[in-house]
Amino acid sequence: MLVQHRVPITVTALIAAALAVLIDLIFRFSNYRDLLHLLSGAGAVKFSGTLTLVFLQMVALLYLLLLLPRLLRSVVVLLFVFVVIVQFSYWLTLNQFITSTDLFLILNVSADNLKGAISSFFKPLILWYTLPYTIFLFALMFVPVRSTFRKSLALSLLPVLYLLVSNYALFLYAAEGNFHLNPMTSLLRSAFHYTFETLREYHGPREALPALNTSRQPLNSIIYIIDESIRGSNLSLNGYPRATTPFLQSIESRGRLRNLGICVAAGTSSYLSNAYLITGHNAFPDNAFRTFKNPTLFDYAKKMGYETIFIDVDSGYLSKLLETAPEGRVRSLDRWMNNQSFRDWQIDLETTKDLGIARYLSNLLNERGGYFILVNKKGLHFHYRNTYPDDPAFTFWKPVMEPSEPITTDPAGREKLVNTYDNGIRFQVDEFFRELVSKTTNQNYVVLYTSDHGQTLAEQGQVYTHLKPDKVIVDVPGFFVFGGQYDKKESLTGIFPGIRVSHLNNFATLLDLMDVPMSLRVRSYDKSIFSLTAEDNRERYYMSGSLHGSGDYVVKMVPTPADEGWGVSRPAGNGPKAD
Ligand SMILES: [Zn+2]
Repeated sequence: MLVQHRVPITVTALIAAALAVLIDLIFRFSNYRDLLHLLSGAGAVKFSGTLTLVFLQMVALLYLLLLLPRLLRSVVVLLFVFVVIVQFSYWLTLNQFITSTDLFLILNVSADNLKGAISSFFKPLILWYTLPYTIFLFALMFVPVRSTFRKSLALSLLPVLYLLVSNYALFLYAAEGNFHLNPMTSLLRSAFHYTFETLREYHGPREALPALNTSRQPLNSIIYIIDESIRGSNLSLNGYPRATTPFLQSIESRGRLRNLGICVAAGTSSYLSNAYLITGHNAFPDNAFRTFKNPTLFDYAKKMGYETIFIDVDSGYLSKLLETAPEGRVRSLDRWMNNQSFRDWQIDLETTKDLGIARYLSNLLNERGGYFILVNKKGLHFHYRNTYPDDPAFTFWKPVMEPSEPITTDPAGREKLVNTYDNGIRFQVDEFFRELVSKTTNQNYVVLYTSDHGQTLAEQGQVYTHLKPDKVIVDVPGFFVFGGQYDKKESLTGIFPGIRVSHLNNFATLLDLMDVPMSLRVRSYDKSIFSLTAEDNRERYYMSGSLHGSGDYVVKMVPTPADEGWGVSRPAGNGPKAD
């Protein structure tokens, strides 16, 4: 009986799998051809091996589908169609299917940021790509069901085991990011990869700092602002032709701002950059899990007598660590503020955006000194239209995008994109600092400001804003803002002119600002901004993809001098100018 039933299902699964592989080959023929051109001899062997495993995975998956009773089968078919739609949306935007790193980011970014990303991805062309898969999957619903529940269960053991073993082999030797074969099984491979990677990572506590005999009580406050999606070259402070940051320029001329120019971000996603910024790790990728093991900025600040506060309204890197392992991964934290805390304090960030945080910060500073505050701002995550008030007074450049309009790369689309982005900078960056600086009366403070990463602004026709390895994405601002009575003012005025700063320099800079003695510094961090000279100007490295280097990651660099055009941004189109 068993054999009699297995044969037709196996044969159907084999034929259907061959069809699925063929459809993928026809629809993405140029990608397969390019891939084969790129591969060396050994690479081609690996590719053929992977393709065989992937074909058998497809057979296993369809075999399991055919074992299901009809109703359940139709539910799974609909799920498969949905997966194909999502995969091709991804493909048409980013030229790749969803990798384990993408899955990780999807599970780790805030719902707001995710909504923005999804609506920037949808294209009508997706329906054309998904049509053959839909027809072929729906045809499988008419294959008769022949086995009973028990028999099906027994028959499913082997294919399930194969899926598990083959995915483990692919996790070890051929990550999905390198090939991208077949949209349906690709997601399965990424999901397995993500699971295996999570199981393998470091789960222990962070390393401790040596003992320090001091009962210091610092008088100054240090604020470290890591903004979201701010491209350095779109600030008029850095030479952008539109007045996006007039207030920052005014305090620069009054000697209260020390600009560091365009800096290079550590990574092309929030998660990557924050991991490096907060732990001071300085090698790419982090295959030794140092970003999980290193003491954080909070550990040093606490040791030096600061009261430590973490403000995160972007639901980023550290918040996720706090949620998953509150005791182990983030210590030395006195107060953690998130969106909910602001609602509890009746600070309405929906209306005031980041200005609500500026007010909260100035209230803290005015209370007393001795704070170390790390802020993950809301900044300018796409959609940009939601990052400043819907009010003509804050719309300096027109026309602008609608709140949920997707990115289009024609000249008119780009013009709106850049206008909306520039209005956002003027509000979320310039007005933020106007609010913070003008409301702060206790003048013994310093702010170190940067952004997690920049934005493409569709300059080369990109419909994605960040995440990919494009050099333009690591163009971020860097500057200090400080109070008139800041007690370490001279160190800021002593910064060498013409230095080139990377995110990796920020960690030791903050340790210097906290007066952390060398004996307390347990890792060898990149040089502090205060010890950088023109001699240090060389390649500035960054990475994209998987933080721990499993599978799809790239390490790239910005040379000195930078390539022609890097670190420069220009408005698009001929819209009316505000100034
Ligand atoms: Zn970000």
